[in-house]
Amino acid sequence: MDDHSYDAIVIGTGHSGLVGAWYLAQAGWSVLMLERRDIVGGTCVTEEIFPGYRGSSVANSSHSLDPRIVGDMRLDRFGLRFAHPELGSLTLFTDGRALVPWPDREKRRAELARFAHGQSDLDGYHALLDFYRSVAMRMQVSFYDPAPSLAAVAERFQTPAQQRAFQKVMFGSVADIIEEHLESPELQAFFAGTAVATNFVGPRTPGSGYLLLQRPLWEESMKSVGTHDENDLMMRNAAPMGGIGAITEAMAAAGRAAGVRIETNAEVVRILCTDGRVTGVALADGREFRAPRVLSNANPKLTLTRLLTADELGRDWYALAEDIPMKGSSAKVHLALNGTPRFACARSDKENELFLATNFRIAPSIDVLQEAYNEAIMGRWSERPTISGIISSAIDPSLTPPGAHFVSLSVRGVPYHLAEGTWDEHGDALAKAVVTTLEEHVPNLLDVLDDYHIYTPLDLEREFALLEGNGAHGDIVPGQIFDSRPMPGCADHRTPVEGLYLCGVGTWPGNFMSGVTGYNASHRMLSDARLPRPDTDPMAAVEDSIT
Ligand SMILES: Cc1cc2nc3c(=O)[nH]c(=O)nc-3n(C[C@H](O)[C@H](O)[C@H](O)COP(=O)(O)OP(=O)(O)OC[C@H]3O[C@@H](n4cnc5c(N)ncnc54)[C@H](O)[C@@H]3O)c2cc1C
Repeated sequence: MDDHSYDAIVIGTGHSGLVGAWYLAQAGWSVLMLERRDIVGGTCVTEEIFPGYRGSSVANSSHSLDPRIVGDMRLDRFGLRFAHPELGSLTLFTDGRALVPWPDREKRRAELARFAHGQSDLDGYHALLDFYRSVAMRMQVSFYDPAPSLAAVAERFQTPAQQRAFQKVMFGSVADIIEEHLESPELQAFFAGTAVATNFVGPRTPGSGYLLLQRPLWEESMKSVGTHDENDLMMRNAAPMGGIGAITEAMAAAGRAAGVRIETNAEVVRILCTDGRVTGVALADGREFRAPRVLSNANPKLTLTRLLTADELGRDWYALAEDIPMKGSSAKVHLALNGTPRFACARSDKENELFLATNFRIAPSIDVLQEAYNEAIMGRWSERPTISGIISSAIDPSLTPPGAHFVSLSVRGVPYHLAEGTWDEHGDALAKAVVTTLEEHVPNLLDVLDDYHIYTPLDLEREFALLEGNGAHGDIVPGQIFDSRPMPGCADHRTPVEGLYLCGVGTWPGNFMSGVTGYNASHRMLSDARLPRPDTDPMAAVEDSIT
């Protein structure tokens, strides 16, 4: 094996690719990873956005991270440490109040009662959680298993009541489900804000009912492999010291220790293939590397339509890949603060300290969330943006100068396609609207604000190769889940090009920063390498399912 040929090449060093590469190397394969940016980690990176200020560039939280993967890779040996803030989240409302899920049971109950419209809301809160849990259990879908078809999943709902529940979740809106259970606008907003994060959907969009199912499905999946309790202990409220990039840095270190060669500033521009079989990759700098298997962690639409030609992929497949919906809906705003922000809802310094160390969200009501979405589909961004944020320097002060803070804000309902003007013209105005919105909840914000920075959806595409700025490499919504993720015929991580595999959040089950697609794809590659490839035409199966 020379420097230019490997058992496998991995395109991209997002967390999914890093996980996949590690399992391949662990099985004895020689593995080369190629990353177009100058650092590893993809969207899960800690970077110096302002001189002396480091923080999360894109993704903020790692609550879905699979503890089995963390354990297998021994990330603790590579320096990964978690802090466990007392609070899981903070939902801020325009009247200055905040919903705080206190860890203490009695205090949490009192907090819910403060917002609930009577006992029926208190019962409704738990009934809503139970509703989703029961649908997840009946679905019997494990994220570790091959992607099921919608029809197979539907068949598991047998009684009329079960079928109704399935239809609500898959085809109804999350707002309808929430409103059936709760009257309090604040409690409604708490669930709706959780649901619509990352995807380009409003709470009243048909199909958005599924969005609250992703977490219970993940919990059921972890139960099926015995890691659920571990996750509760380890990842719930876990914040990596060093910001989210500390996780991917540890993954890269684990990979190198397992023998993976990682090259940055190495953009793949072509996947090379001969007679329908992958043979390697070509880089923007003219170099070529050879391997009989390539695993792409890049967005699947980008992989299939930009790194391959229609002739190489097959024209029908190429048309399917071009058709993968990819509308982005997020922007990032980063703030450098020269002092401590003070939440209006904090009643004491101690409470403020607790609030600083948790994720916070500004999504005051279902209507505000829906308005932001309505604006976005018309190509406009809302003056009342919905925001989720983290102040990682409150957890790890080494990220900023002493006494200073770095705030990383994810802004939702921001369209990639603008009705008027360009993002290079609009970016600054959006950043200022975000600052104004946050100031309503952090009254001393302008006193301590040193600088701000924005990644518009277009910047996210340019900088992180997120097509249309879509952080999920394609929304995780009905029609783009199960065996339709990323597209029919490719949900098992294989592609029509023999030896080319896909991983990453754009593949089933998505599941954000969990590592599960890297795990599943690498295991698929390893088992395929031991078995002859089945002699079937997957496009014929897709045609059968359509006709
Ligand atoms: C604003 C925003 C906020 C988010 N917040 C969260 C959050 O808090 N928690 C969470 O779990 N998820 C969050 N997400 C989603 C998150 O990005 C995904 O969940 C996940 O981390 C994606 O990881 P990945 O490894 O699948 O892909 P990516 O992180 O996108 O990695 C893909 C890698 O491939 C590289 N690449 C692409 N093309 C090439 C090429 N041609 N050659 C070489 N390299 C290439 C890219 O540079 C990148 O490094 C957020 C997304 C956005 C946009």
